[in-house]
Amino acid sequence: MWQLLAETSGLTMAHLEHRVYALDLEDGVHDGRRQARPTDCATCGAKVHPSARVCTYCSAQAPQRSIFDLL
Ligand SMILES: [Zn+2]
Repeated sequence: MWQLLAETSGLTMAHLEHRVYALDLEDGVHDGRRQARPTDCATCGAKVHPSARVCTYCSAQAPQRSIFDLL
């Protein structure tokens, strides 16, 4: 998939490496892993675990996340 993108978009390996580095730093630690952070429940304000579908405290629907946020 990367080869197809590189051939058709002009992106280089340097672009990819820069993006991977930036994604790694999104959780505040450059460790080769990316951990999803809890979100705030829109109804009660409690912290909602990244993989939860509903808030533990009030059962409100948790915000939908991209599958890539859970990796
Ligand atoms: Zn809640």
